[in-house]
Amino acid sequence: MAAIVPFDQRDGVIWMNGKFVEWKEAKVHVLTHALHYASAVFEGERAYGGEIFKLTEHTERLFASAEMLDMKIPYSVAEIDKASRDTLARQGFTDAYVRPIAWRGSEMMGVAAQASRINVAIAVWQWPAYFDPNALEKGIRLDIAKWRRPDPITIPCKAKATGLYMICTLSKHEAERKGYADAMMLDWRGQVAECTGANIFFVKGGELHTPTPDAFLDGITRRTVIDLARRRQIRVHERAIMPEELKGFESCFIVGTAAEITPVGEIGPHKFTVTDMVRTLRSDYLAEVQPKRKAA
Ligand code: PMP
Repeated sequence: MAAIVPFDQRDGVIWMNGKFVEWKEAKVHVLTHALHYASAVFEGERAYGGEIFKLTEHTERLFASAEMLDMKIPYSVAEIDKASRDTLARQGFTDAYVRPIAWRGSEMMGVAAQASRINVAIAVWQWPAYFDPNALEKGIRLDIAKWRRPDPITIPCKAKATGLYMICTLSKHEAERKGYADAMMLDWRGQVAECTGANIFFVKGGELHTPTPDAFLDGITRRTVIDLARRRQIRVHERAIMPEELKGFESCFIVGTAAEITPVGEIGPHKFTVTDMVRTLRSDYLAEVQPKRKAA
């Protein structure tokens, strides 16, 4: 396998606080509030055919996440949309991953940092498949994480905030050590929640079942998939799902900007088959993300 070029050693430019800087020079100081106190929010977007899918929805979520962390981004949504498109163009990719991030800077060090600057950066790189493409046929294997999504009264769980990923990294590391591709997480009540970077759907009797997103990110891909399913007259049940129900589902797949639609073949002891419905929704999704060319 080719060695991965470290993320701070790549070529190109990164948009940082209103201007493009050389990729290798896009640095922050070690005494940055975000590094010590997790005061950062981010997005994950994908460009297809030169256009970022649902860009404004992602940018609006970035702003909403920032607000939940008491951070005011010093740009407008339109400015960040434009900066995202410009960064993609400057990088010269048509199909790419786009990562905007907003974080509290280094002006103040301590829990309170009211006067610190809110910085924004946008980086674009090529990230072909989140999971092993060879696993698409049989589905990936998921562990069941020991960490649980926290109660909404303990943390702003709807924000796409860096701090919420601590338990995701721990869960995914443990899963990978056991030979799994990822982990499914329960919430604090013991209900099925999501994966470490994607939402989850189950299939039973030709209908979809997915957890109500009351304690985790209501992903943009999740909402897109619900929409695509309804266009095909597939019923979608958003409800509390208990892990005991896993044995009764026929298929399972996870959805997210990076993961797109990835079939799941196993969750712990439970086995699923990749059915035509999963394949159809996957191809519907891959068609939906392509730019809609206006008729001339
Ligand atoms: N849950 C988590 C924890 C995620 O990191 C992601 C990826 N952003 C998702 C769900 C899916 O969200 P989206 O479809 O908006 O990418």
